[in-house]
Amino acid sequence: MSRFQLPLTPSVAGAQPPAPVKGATGLVRIEDLPPAASPQHSCDICKGDGLAFSAQGEVAHAKPCDCIRPCERCLDTGTVTAIVDGTVRTGRCRCRRVHDRSRLYSAAGIPGRYAQASFATYSQGILLHSRNDPASMKCLTEMSGWLGRWGKEHENRGLVLHGAVGRGKTHLLVAVVRNLIVRHGIRARFVEFTRLLGQLKAGYSEGKSGAMVIDPLVEVPVLAIDELGKGRMTDWELTVIDEVISRRYNAMACTLGSTNFAPARATGATPVNAAAVNITAQTLGDRVGDRVYSRLEEMCDFVELAGPDFRSIQRR
Ligand SMILES: [Zn+2]
Ligand SMILES: [Zn+2]
Repeated sequence: MSRFQLPLTPSVAGAQPPAPVKGATGLVRIEDLPPAASPQHSCDICKGDGLAFSAQGEVAHAKPCDCIRPCERCLDTGTVTAIVDGTVRTGRCRCRRVHDRSRLYSAAGIPGRYAQASFATYSQGILLHSRNDPASMKCLTEMSGWLGRWGKEHENRGLVLHGAVGRGKTHLLVAVVRNLIVRHGIRARFVEFTRLLGQLKAGYSEGKSGAMVIDPLVEVPVLAIDELGKGRMTDWELTVIDEVISRRYNAMACTLGSTNFAPARATGATPVNAAAVNITAQTLGDRVGDRVYSRLEEMCDFVELAGPDFRSIQRR
């Protein structure tokens, strides 16, 4: 039997023999197939990553960039059948990678207003507004070091960005999540702390079980919690956050975060107003409890984002 007559599926008794397959995805050796569709490195929209980002309501979405041409390798079916070492094999075409990653990004819950947030846009902000501010540059260097270690160590350590309001912590946290999805294809979830608590509370009031509410937050490989410690922390909320962090700790799952509070154990300082956001006398330990704080300390690298206040610079 010539290589062009190999059946795609085992033939059934009495069935007509399959017609010879013709065209670019016919049964040829895998090394003779045309290359899979890929993004243009010179593309102004995706910069070669293959994804175009936009805000759709409250949530940021990604779609495959228009610079990607139809795929000659799989004829846009997503599946390739070819001869590998003398055997017919069927597998997914590598052009699907960008589709997979656009779905991962769109499901991550990144706020719509941060749809364009990336390391590139953060660096441009530093250049434009603060002329290579050394504190921000130092933070960027630490972040790229952390990302460079991703996947190379047995356990992927988490990361908590801390610093005063207006330094761009949320922008950077989104940039980390985006990088992990776009470069590494990691499933991740981004959530703002008070919203997370609100969602948990809503889940319980809808009659969902504790497992239904908490399990998705424990099972996601990367959970990014923005504004850790913000809001009015009731005993119930503290118990829930303790469970999420403890279970992620036990599962050695990667947890990311940002906070306005100093990364230190509880001092006992009381807030002037429990709902206020920026209470510098309090530490992260005061806000989330020492047990959660010490777990975070073990799981995560803490990176300070000092530098100028972008919000006040932009108002000048
Ligand atoms: Zn493009
Ligand atoms: Zn393809």
